[in-house]
Amino acid sequence: MSTDAPDKLKTQPEKEEASFAETAFRLAGKSDEEARRTGALDKADDQVEALFKPQYQTVNSPAHRAVWDKELPIDLFTSTSVTPSPALQKVMDDSLEVVRRHRDAGTLYNEDGKLREQLLNDLGGVGYWGLLVKPEYGGAGAPFAAFAPFLTKMATLEGTVAGLASVHGCIGAVDPIRTFGNADQKKRYLPKLASGERLSAFALTEPGAGSDLTALRTVAKLEGDSYVVNGEKLFITNVVPGRTVGLVCLIDNKPAVLIADLPEQENEEFQLKKYGLYAIRGAYNRGIIFKNFRVPAENLLKVQRGDGLTIAYHGLNLGRVALCANAAGMMRVMLASMIPWANFRVTYSQPIGTRELVQRRLGCLAGLITAADALVEWCSGLIDQGYRGEMECVIAKIFGSEAQKHAAVEFFMKTHGGRSFLQGHLFGDNVHEYLAPCIYEGEGEVLGMAFFKSLVKQHGVQFFEPIGKALMAAGIKKPNLANPAHFWALRGPATAYGKWVIGQKLRRVSAPSLPPMPAALRAHAEFAADFLQRSPQDISGTMSKHQLGLADRQCRMSEISRRIQDATVMLCTALYGARKDDEVVRAAADVACQDLKRNLTGKRPTDAYFKAATKLGATIADGGFKSIAGMKPDEILMPYAK
Ligand SMILES: Cc1cc2nc3c(=O)[nH]c(=O)nc-3n(C[C@H](O)[C@H](O)[C@H](O)COP(=O)(O)OP(=O)(O)OC[C@H]3O[C@@H](n4cnc5c(N)ncnc54)[C@H](O)[C@@H]3O)c2cc1C
Repeated sequence: MSTDAPDKLKTQPEKEEASFAETAFRLAGKSDEEARRTGALDKADDQVEALFKPQYQTVNSPAHRAVWDKELPIDLFTSTSVTPSPALQKVMDDSLEVVRRHRDAGTLYNEDGKLREQLLNDLGGVGYWGLLVKPEYGGAGAPFAAFAPFLTKMATLEGTVAGLASVHGCIGAVDPIRTFGNADQKKRYLPKLASGERLSAFALTEPGAGSDLTALRTVAKLEGDSYVVNGEKLFITNVVPGRTVGLVCLIDNKPAVLIADLPEQENEEFQLKKYGLYAIRGAYNRGIIFKNFRVPAENLLKVQRGDGLTIAYHGLNLGRVALCANAAGMMRVMLASMIPWANFRVTYSQPIGTRELVQRRLGCLAGLITAADALVEWCSGLIDQGYRGEMECVIAKIFGSEAQKHAAVEFFMKTHGGRSFLQGHLFGDNVHEYLAPCIYEGEGEVLGMAFFKSLVKQHGVQFFEPIGKALMAAGIKKPNLANPAHFWALRGPATAYGKWVIGQKLRRVSAPSLPPMPAALRAHAEFAADFLQRSPQDISGTMSKHQLGLADRQCRMSEISRRIQDATVMLCTALYGARKDDEVVRAAADVACQDLKRNLTGKRPTDAYFKAATKLGATIADGGFKSIAGMKPDEILMPYAK
């Protein structure tokens, strides 16, 4: 679903029965509290699903179908880039120019090291904050497939500016209002949000509620014509008095979202909790304490189905792709910084850039950038088409954040050696920026388990839930099919599952119908497609082995999730590389795919792989990676006479 595609919304009555997760948790003997909380989250997830027409729901999304469908739908892995309209292109170009101008003039940051108000206002003046707002409300109406790759460009100039576009546009107030707001809310807020007159933030996390969103404590109570809010939020990016917050709180014990205008100054009702935070250091990040803070009742966002988490998840989906786009930009900055140093630094009478180890780092980093680009293009295309895209966006988020972390430590830091830790060095000054995306918008491993749950949910509902229910009805705790009473109790659901298992065993996985593509990339796409298509037996076998105890087998869920994600990234990257008419990008896609393939096979790198990665690295050291051409690398610190 997107605001530009309301026709893709589905209308269906809300189901009120206990969710699969809740039933499974109860059957597994978990406490009522844990079952209820898990069920609440699962239900919120079902309600998000219900917002989308069937063809755009998770079970019909590419990542799900790649595993469970009889044939892998290759066409759903091949989104293409979009060409922005001239008006949109102007907003983007002007925004980049504003940042360049401030950077060159040394006026990006204020005395606290935060982005200056003047810069934010100048960006508002050229339309930056309204990129995702429709023109009728004063915005540029960018498709997500234009917005996300543009963030990559912005991140090559200034990562926090790029990050704030996502904080404001995806998770902040813009997406919740444009997607879920009523006509009045859109009219009142979108123009101000588009112009940047009001910048926005997203306040979900609390001292006791981060990964566990069922632990939210902030409450809002209707009193007269306003909600009275009490509670505390933590780690909120872009919070400054006078800005607007998409505030997730409990109303009548259910999560809800209020659009809250923060007063111009702290007062009795609204106070900021200030602390030093190393990450996203160019923006203000604070806790907020609300004491009888009033928000007009008309600022409550209402959802036809679901609750406030429905709204939050929608924006987070977009934010996760934006995060991957940002990582693709940040990794370009690292690459652009490594090249001059690799060519300058001489050891044992040769520049380190001529050495295999350093060339491999350059090649692998280009591979990570290319894979991140591929995911951004794929996911944003799906979002624009109307897909929920939750599994796909999680893949992009995890890959982007992990790739950035790996690139920073394994490639960037190591190549710059001791200078990495000098004050004023990009690595030393930004190391927290490189690591923090692994945590915000959902810690990666927790998200990986959520991915797994989305992947197996339908299979569980179809085959395992009936078995569980039959066991419960018969009062059987430990099933034993040799026991005739157990066999009889399970005959119906077990037969259905048995048929599925036999069908899988007899199944011949057919080769995907790939578009014309270079042989190496074709081989990767075929491998990844085959891997995904062969995984149902493995996944289902794990479900069958652990049954109701699976929820506690987090390491296994995480491991399977990782493999499915890797294979999906591999498929997208191979197809993306093949679509690009650039041999260096294709070679980078090949290296990334080889790295991912080894994760899946556990095999050692071959000499051919080292040759491919180092050859690519040498080309890149020579200026062969076009998408970093023209980037202004940072100065070489502590140069020396050679
Ligand atoms: C720089 C930065 C900016 C941020 N900006 C915002 C913002 O703008 N708005 C906002 O609302 N929030 C923001 N956050 C908060 C961020 O989203 C949370 O930090 C994140 O969701 C993790 O929550 P937590 O810190 O409470 O970690 P916790 O939930 O305490 O998790 C800690 C660890 O426990 C593990 N864990 C937790 N639950 C389980 C489980 N059930 N099973 C196994 N392992 C588990 C996690 O994997 C993690 O490793 C920001 C955070 C940072 C660092």
